[in-house]
Amino acid sequence: MILKLISPKMPIKSFWDLKVTAKLLRKNAVCANLWLPVIASVTPGDITVICIDENVEKINYNEKVDLVALSGMTCGIKRSFEIANIYRKKGVPVIIGGIHATMNPEECQNYADSVVVGEAEKIWPKIVKDFQEKKLKPLYTSDTFTQLTEIPVPRYDLLKIDKYMAAPVQTTRGCPFNCDFCSVKIINGPMYRKKTIEQIIRELKFIKKQPGFNSIMICDDNFIGDLVFAKKLLKAMIPLHMNWMAQCSVNLGDHPDILQLMKKSSGIFVFIGFETVNKDNLKAMNKFVNNPDEYQQKISAIHNAGISVLGSLILGSDNDDLTSFREAYEFLNENNIIFCMLNILTPLPGTKLFKRMEKEDRFLTLDWNYFNVGNITIKTRKLSSEELRSGFIWLHKKYYNYDEIYKRFRRLIRRGNWKRPIKNKATFQGFLVLLNLLRSYLFTTNLKQIRFLFKMLKHLPNKNVDGYFIGFILAYGKGFNDYVKQMPKIKNPERFENSEL
Ligand code: SF4
Repeated sequence: MILKLISPKMPIKSFWDLKVTAKLLRKNAVCANLWLPVIASVTPGDITVICIDENVEKINYNEKVDLVALSGMTCGIKRSFEIANIYRKKGVPVIIGGIHATMNPEECQNYADSVVVGEAEKIWPKIVKDFQEKKLKPLYTSDTFTQLTEIPVPRYDLLKIDKYMAAPVQTTRGCPFNCDFCSVKIINGPMYRKKTIEQIIRELKFIKKQPGFNSIMICDDNFIGDLVFAKKLLKAMIPLHMNWMAQCSVNLGDHPDILQLMKKSSGIFVFIGFETVNKDNLKAMNKFVNNPDEYQQKISAIHNAGISVLGSLILGSDNDDLTSFREAYEFLNENNIIFCMLNILTPLPGTKLFKRMEKEDRFLTLDWNYFNVGNITIKTRKLSSEELRSGFIWLHKKYYNYDEIYKRFRRLIRRGNWKRPIKNKATFQGFLVLLNLLRSYLFTTNLKQIRFLFKMLKHLPNKNVDGYFIGFILAYGKGFNDYVKQMPKIKNPERFENSEL
């Protein structure tokens, strides 16, 4: 029997697909979807499994296959439905699972022979067996949360690891907090679950063996949800010499011992959801772990350890008004947050926020393609949709221009040590990436871009930064700049530029 697992591409272009950055680094996408190798690893051994990620390769619909399994986040689910329709027309049964299917199983049942609700690892072997015995049920619901210690090493060997900027690893599942816009608690349950340290190290070693491996994306909901565990794991990761990134809550800044271990174990950046600098918004979000009065001190502590903070902010909350865009810019600039994910408040199915918006009749669309945090899907309270859209574009253009990125970079490297403990040997691949970067920066009439390149290169050699960090800023900086360049012009940008704080 041949089983094909397919992860769909996003139907609408998004700021964070980082296509330009990936291309500059001679890759096709940021990170693989972890469910592909995980589900492959719990599939009975006598079955041939093919993993396809549409973000890095085309689907061959003519390839012989007996069963197709699809997953998708809400913003990609319509593409999953399209793929399901094609296979079902060919007579190939389709199973759909994942976050959206868990929240909206009835909708997914219109497009699939079977739908999986909840975490699939435990029930997957039974589902496959039912299929083989021609007893596939229309709905499977996982009634327990997976013991992470029981999951085998994901089948990273079935992914085209060399096509990604990073390989995904999960060390824990869940988060101790319960923000109203987030589906983590609903999907992952009330417990913070962990793998064993030995198990994670085994996975990391297996990834390291894959040809073309680059770095690790720890895709835990909150890598520091259990501080003692995080410390033990970081210590064990030091000898592996693998560059990594992870999502953390902002209280990371309170733990210098963890920060030190992060640096020693080759941590490059941490992704932190600040969400907003407005306390009333935070209260409405139920995000009590964040206190804007403490942001500065915590960010400084993380930067001083030589770990870059990749921020995330949400715009369009009920207390946001015309001043919020300028306020967000000032926060990012003052704290030298070199790159930040700027999102529009998007209620995801199943969340408390979604239910509230439904009750208040505030949805403008329920077309899931637009639920990619870059589009307006609800009526905002103190901003019209035009103001939110224009302010969002204004903030991108203000924050992501080369002069601004360079200013933040210069201030950042004055503190902390941005050199990695890893000394990578020069490789032909590295040489090609360098050539690619130089070519893309130089073959242009954009003088600002060329100036940015030379100003960045001037920092080599520098006792505080290495070529990797400079390359990281160049690749991401150009990616964001190119994306922002395509954003439309807005009317009256001065209403944001000159807004009184
Ligand atoms: S802290 Fe992050 S992962 Fe945890 S509930 Fe809030 S948004 Fe979700």
